[in-house]
Amino acid sequence: MSIDSDALIDWYTETARDLPWRRPGVTAWQILMSEIMLQQTPVVRVEPIWREWVARWPVPSAMAAASQGEVLRAWGKLGYPRRALRLHECAQVLAAEHGDEVPADVEVLLGLPGIGAYTARAVACFAYGQRVPVVDTNVRRVVARAVHGRAEAGNPAARDLLETEALLPHDIPRAAKFSAALMELGALICTARTPTCANCPLPHCAWVTAGRPASTVTRRVQKYDGTDRQARGRLLDVLRAAPDPVERPALDLAWTRDPGQRDRALDSLLTDGLIEQTPDGLFALAGEAGN
Ligand code: SF4
Repeated sequence: MSIDSDALIDWYTETARDLPWRRPGVTAWQILMSEIMLQQTPVVRVEPIWREWVARWPVPSAMAAASQGEVLRAWGKLGYPRRALRLHECAQVLAAEHGDEVPADVEVLLGLPGIGAYTARAVACFAYGQRVPVVDTNVRRVVARAVHGRAEAGNPAARDLLETEALLPHDIPRAAKFSAALMELGALICTARTPTCANCPLPHCAWVTAGRPASTVTRRVQKYDGTDRQARGRLLDVLRAAPDPVERPALDLAWTRDPGQRDRALDSLLTDGLIEQTPDGLFALAGEAGN
């Protein structure tokens, strides 16, 4: 079974969300920023920060000139802050080696810091209108259901790209729209837990035809409260709010429920290069320890 591209594209044309990074005039750099932010953070939290970043760093060289600490502060609470540092690194490479432009070629994009298989193709497709398979979790799930009749996609595999590419219309502009539509369908209708099949534009879905067989994948419930990730976030909050490097007790107070976990979180932030220590042992955001 394949996917009815006409039905999908018509649905997208009529109902697509009016997201700011989809509007005319948005540059490839600004789309790249949105893609990095959206990878692990919902649209509603990304949108205000993205608007700020577009105004503040409209081109890569503007961000390249900022410090790591400035970028981490501006990242706020979007989570997984290593993304911000990698994007900063990417901005420096774009400014220094690519004429302050984001390249259009997938292979060149893949050579940039922090740009993986998904982001490279998302930029090539959404910024440059190319016919490339853009495969994220949502797309994998829609393909698993609509084409293969499985409730869930299972683990990512190299064949995901080939399979999705085979579904793309041959016409290049339509292929780009199809990719955007497939992602939108997975984000809004064919969701992980409660797909609203009654609202789905696809006339033939293998999973529905097969009687909606249950998933064979064991889903792990992701919790946040009490995790190392939450502890890291609390420590970073302290440093983001402080104009100057802080002493260790200020960090200790930010996470009192488990001192061992706090030490582990602090070590991992140092190892990841998100924070630094000054020569006299104070803690600061990356680039702000004055070493
Ligand atoms: S019919 Fe349901 S399961 Fe099939 S693609 Fe549409 S939303 Fe997903």
